[in-house]
Amino acid sequence: MSTEARTTTHPRRVLPPAELPERPDVPRALIAGAGISGLTVAHGLARHGWDVQLFEAAPTPRGGGYMIDFFGPGYDTAERMGAVLPEMRAHGKEFRELRYVDEQTRITARADVDAIVAGVGGRYFSILRPDVERSLLATLPDRVAVAYGHRVADLDLAAADHGDHVHVTTRTATGETRTWQGDLLVGADGIRSRVRELAWGPEDYFLRHLGYRSAAYLFEDPELARWLGDTPLLTDTLHRQAGLYAVDERTAATLFIERTDEVDRPVDVAAHWRTRFDDLGPTIRRALAVAPADMYCDSVAQSVVPRWRRGRVVLTGDAAHAVSLLAGQGVSMAITGGWHLGGLVGPLATDGVPTADALGRAIDRYQDGFGPQVAGVQRTAPTAAATFCPGNRAQLALRRLAVNATALPGAGALAGRLAGGRRVVG
Ligand SMILES: Cc1cc2nc3c(=O)[nH]c(=O)nc-3n(C[C@H](O)[C@H](O)[C@H](O)COP(=O)(O)OP(=O)(O)OC[C@H]3O[C@@H](n4cnc5c(N)ncnc54)[C@H](O)[C@@H]3O)c2cc1C
Repeated sequence: MSTEARTTTHPRRVLPPAELPERPDVPRALIAGAGISGLTVAHGLARHGWDVQLFEAAPTPRGGGYMIDFFGPGYDTAERMGAVLPEMRAHGKEFRELRYVDEQTRITARADVDAIVAGVGGRYFSILRPDVERSLLATLPDRVAVAYGHRVADLDLAAADHGDHVHVTTRTATGETRTWQGDLLVGADGIRSRVRELAWGPEDYFLRHLGYRSAAYLFEDPELARWLGDTPLLTDTLHRQAGLYAVDERTAATLFIERTDEVDRPVDVAAHWRTRFDDLGPTIRRALAVAPADMYCDSVAQSVVPRWRRGRVVLTGDAAHAVSLLAGQGVSMAITGGWHLGGLVGPLATDGVPTADALGRAIDRYQDGFGPQVAGVQRTAPTAAATFCPGNRAQLALRRLAVNATALPGAGALAGRLAGGRRVVG
C-alpha cells in the first residue's frame, strides 16, 4: 500500500475581492489575519455597515490542520451568525467512540462520544480547522475584502494613539510595501501576533508556555483511514499522547503531544517525532513514516494581554487570549469573542465614522464582558493536561476510569453538559 504525506488544499470557491473602493463617511476596519477570529470580526462589523479590509500573510486560505471539537459558546454563536452554522455542519464529522490503546494497539479504554453528544442535545460535532475558515469565508457579507499575501509589517503608533485614523503597512512576498488607512485596526493575527508586537511589545511578555509541545498533519492512507472509520485512536501513555483519526475515506490525521520544557521548534521536526514516538506501536510508526517536514509543530502556550486595546487598535482571538490546545475551545473562543466585539463596535457605524472615545468605550465593554469568560477557560488548561498526558500511573488509571465511565447511563450526558454548559456572552 502506498502512503503519501500531503498538505491539504483549500476547497475552491469564489473568494471575496482583494480590495474595496473607499467610501467617504463609511467607517473602515482594517483586520490583520484572515483566520477564524479575523473573519468572525469581519462578519460582525460588515453586517452593521462597516467596510472591512482584511490582510492575510498566507497567499491563499490556509489548508492543513487538525480536527477540533465544536460545541458550547462557539456553537451558540455560530448559530446566531445565521448561515455559518449550517455551512460548518455540512463539513462536520461525528465520531462515535474514542479508543485508547497501548503500544500493541490493544484497547485499554473507550469513550462513548454518542453519549456526550446526546448530553448537549446534539450541539457538538468535529470539524477540520480549515473548514471553519472555509465556512466563514463562504458566508461573508458584501463589503468585506481579503488581501491574501499581504503581511502586516508596520503600524503608525502615533496616529493609532492620537490621530483620527490608523495607518498600517503591509509587505508582500516579493517585498512590495503599501500603506492602508482605516478607522480601527483589529489584530487577529494569532498567538505570535505582529500587531501585538508592534503596539504592545515582544511576545515573551505575553506568552505563557504550558510545558507541552504538539504537532499535527494529514496524510493520505486509504487503508488506514477506512480502518479508523469513525473511531479515533489515542495512545494510553504517560507523558505523551499520539492520536490518529480519519478525516475522510482516503485521509488520516495525527495529533501528537509531549511534555517538554523546550519551546523552540526542533530543527528536523519529522525526525524529532519519529525518535520520540517510535515505540508507540506499528500503527503510530506507519503515520510517523510519512511525517512531512512542514507539519504544524509548536509549543503549547496561552497568551495573556492585560488590556486588549491601545488607541484605535484592538487584539482579538489567539493574539489576545489564546487558551491553548489543552483547554480546547480556542476556535469556540475566537468565534465567541470576535462576534461579541463586532456586536459592540459594529453599531457605532450608524453615526458615521466613530470617534476614538466611542471606539474605546465599546472595546472596553468587550473586554470587560468577554475577558472573565475566556480567563475561566484558560484556567482549565493545567487540569486538562493530565487527561492528555498523565504524569504518573495514578493519573493514567484515573483517566481510564473516567473514559470508561462515559458509557455508564447518565454519565455521558453529564460530561456533555459540563463541556457544553459554559456561559455564553452576548
Ligand atoms: C493542535 C491544535 C489543536 C487544537 N484543537 C482545538 C480544539 O479542539 N477546539 C478548539 O476550539 N480550538 C482548538 N485549537 C485552537 C484553535 O485552532 C485556535 O485557538 C484558533 O484557530 C484561533 O484563531 P485565530 O484566528 O485567533 O488565530 P489563527 O488561527 O492563528 O489565525 C491568525 C491568522 O493571521 C495570519 N497572520 C499571522 N501574522 C500575520 C501578519 N503579520 N499579517 C497578516 N496576517 C497574519 C495567519 O496566517 C493566520 O491566518 C487547537 C490548536 C492547535 C494548535
